[in-house]
Amino acid sequence: MRIYNFSPGPAVMPLPALEQAGKEMAEYKDCGMSVMEMSHRSKMYMDIHQEAEALLRDLMSIPSNYKVLFLQGGASQQFAMVPMNLYKNGKADFVITGEWANKAYKEASRVLKATVIASSEDRKFGYIPKVENISPDADYVHICSNNTICGTRFLDIPDTGNISLVSDMSSGILSEVTDVSKFGLIYAGAQKNIGPAGLTIVIIREDLIGSDYASKLPSIFQYKIHAEADSLFNTAPTYSIYMAKLCLEWLKDQGGVAGIQKINESKAALMYDFLDNSKLFRGIAEKEFRSLMNIPFTTDDDAKDKAFIKEAAEEGLLNLSGHRIVGGLRASIYNAMPTEGVQKLVNFMKEFESKNV
Ligand code: PMP
Repeated sequence: MRIYNFSPGPAVMPLPALEQAGKEMAEYKDCGMSVMEMSHRSKMYMDIHQEAEALLRDLMSIPSNYKVLFLQGGASQQFAMVPMNLYKNGKADFVITGEWANKAYKEASRVLKATVIASSEDRKFGYIPKVENISPDADYVHICSNNTICGTRFLDIPDTGNISLVSDMSSGILSEVTDVSKFGLIYAGAQKNIGPAGLTIVIIREDLIGSDYASKLPSIFQYKIHAEADSLFNTAPTYSIYMAKLCLEWLKDQGGVAGIQKINESKAALMYDFLDNSKLFRGIAEKEFRSLMNIPFTTDDDAKDKAFIKEAAEEGLLNLSGHRIVGGLRASIYNAMPTEGVQKLVNFMKEFESKNV
């Protein structure tokens, strides 16, 4: 029996995608083997690879002057690859909106002169600060558009003028309509809204590929090498890309990103409306900046939070504990979380409240 999985990632995947993969597990399209067993250079695999890219381009309306790269190493590897590859003046600006943004900043500091131009640490990362005081000679400005742990998101894309904007979209990608042309580079680990872990997506404007500094990096770390090889410089994470293709097909069937955004807004509203009127629970992020994907909340009583997690699990509502560094509770409601799952959670919260107030 499938449960409702509120994990922040790896996370719930669309059931039709899993079922399709199940059917094709041992033999894909009468070719006598699983996708896992295919050469990454075979025609059968290449079709999957190209179709996955075409779907992503279509769903996000990615302009033709952007490359899409299928890489490995997670978003964490991009914390290092971005500064190494975008290095020109050796300076970059960072907006610190939580743990992941801070990790991106720290990793970049190993490569270049990283400057914090804004931070929301003063109010426990509960809001999104104004992005101003951009260094005129920065190679880029880095943001984390959706903050998985603290549950905030950028509602407006900051205007960084002629300085390229780079965004870690790991937990927000494909959840709402995004104007890719406002960014120089977008990266995301796949394991929330794209597919399984093991695949990392980079969407990069072509003029940012191939700086002098980058051309001296080991090949595996150069965007240029991956771009020129259509992400087949070495063995790609073939099965993760195949699963991503199935998930993207499902997303297209939901009305694409605009369609899923409406569903995401109504799912998040179910949670936030309840939290705003609850006598027991409260949402943690400040109202104006709340995420559609990750909803941290608490009863402000450690024992009650723990009891909630245990009792919810008995009802088939799993992985509701907050991140270990902030505690409390968190529901991650990515694209593939059905509305019924959120409704069931809210109903259970009501029941828990009636017994515990
Ligand atoms: N950035 C964000 C916003 C994340 O949520 C995560 C993972 N939860 C990461 C980066 C790190 O991703 P990975 O484990 O793929 O390196």
